[in-house]
Amino acid sequence: MNAEIISIGTELLMGELTDTNASWIAGRLPPLGIQLQWVSIIGDDLPKLAEAFRRGMQRSDIIFTTGGLGPTQDDLTREAVAAALDETPTVQEEELENLRQWFRNRGQDMPGHNVKQAHLIPSAQFITNRNGTAPGWWSEKDGKHIVIMPGPPGENRAMWNDEIDAKLRTLIDSEVTITRNIKTLGLGEASVDEIISEYFGLENPYLGIYSKADGIHLRIIARANDEATAREMIAPVENAIHERLAPYIWGYDDETPELSVGAALTARGMTLATIECVSGGFLANTITEATDSDQWYRGGAVAYTADAIIAAGVPSEVLDSNGVVSQPTANAMALAAQTTAGSDFGVGVTGVLGPREFEGHRPGTIHIAISHGEDVHEFPLRTPPRRLVIKRRSCNTALTELRKLITTVAP
Ligand code: AMP
Ligand code: MG
Repeated sequence: MNAEIISIGTELLMGELTDTNASWIAGRLPPLGIQLQWVSIIGDDLPKLAEAFRRGMQRSDIIFTTGGLGPTQDDLTREAVAAALDETPTVQEEELENLRQWFRNRGQDMPGHNVKQAHLIPSAQFITNRNGTAPGWWSEKDGKHIVIMPGPPGENRAMWNDEIDAKLRTLIDSEVTITRNIKTLGLGEASVDEIISEYFGLENPYLGIYSKADGIHLRIIARANDEATAREMIAPVENAIHERLAPYIWGYDDETPELSVGAALTARGMTLATIECVSGGFLANTITEATDSDQWYRGGAVAYTADAIIAAGVPSEVLDSNGVVSQPTANAMALAAQTTAGSDFGVGVTGVLGPREFEGHRPGTIHIAISHGEDVHEFPLRTPPRRLVIKRRSCNTALTELRKLITTVAP
């Protein structure tokens, strides 16, 4: 089943709004075995929209749209679908009453303009919108489907989860697509590519390689008539990746570095504390993105000067003999974090954020240390001299190395 997505709204074309709806919908389609072929952005323009729907009816089995369902005159998606299908919208009394009730529940009278949202064409049915006034439409004509949803993400995602997903499952043929994401850090894209080169270029299972802020991701995609078969097709490729890249793998599928660390610590009843300099709080912020971090994160300090690092518990001799930007200082920061908090692991991160050199080191010079008991593991790093890159890489390296270490010291 071939699909296309049309994101509708002039503000998308003006660069005022980023089209997150299309990527969200795109992400829902592979597990359903629906092949997305095109994504377009079109302004609130009746002739252009109608043309897009006519073209979509020719080339796609199903068209998804978001946007342009508001009550105002510039929202024209319904009108465009009606024009493309050569149908006439009429007001639906029952839906009109639902709308009036929606406003009454909020102590308001329904503005006259909203009547537009109770219109329907003969080939379509309403899709209930539990979070707003604009219902969606699901039109079925000549074996083709047009599914129109409102623009606000909170509304279209609820609709998808409530109704659309289930209805799509009844339409699609039996083919399923299964993906497996394997996340590595520590090797460049070219090296990873070379190590598993013979698995690239196959169509099914397909292997993709992507460079991300938290390392090199490998994605295996298999299509088959049922899930078990698709998983069997993925297994040999996944096993080969494991055999050859095990020391670099830190996570799978939707795992983030912080979720992966959190899961490893929680499973062992262990805890973490941090002292960070060069990452300026990015590390603590990232860790606390994990909703269960209160279970395993004891806390952290941002120590941005030698004095602050000493105040956080690092002996002044360490700074006197090594300076702020050094591996011994990172090591002492990790130990100080661990000792002060009484945690199982400590992380210390120091370096030069720039734009100027510091202590004779260039921006992007980083020293990370991870302590566990009396052992300290050292991870010196060099990144491009851009501030966000420095913060992100130092944080992701600290977390992914920590994850690997946890599973080594406490298998
Ligand atoms: P509309 O239904 O076109 O009036 O859109 C209402 C609101 O939904 C917009 O102001 C945006 O906040 C949001 N929205 C619309 N289209 C998109 C999109 N493609 N991606 C993300 N948000 C969107
Ligand atoms: Mg709009």
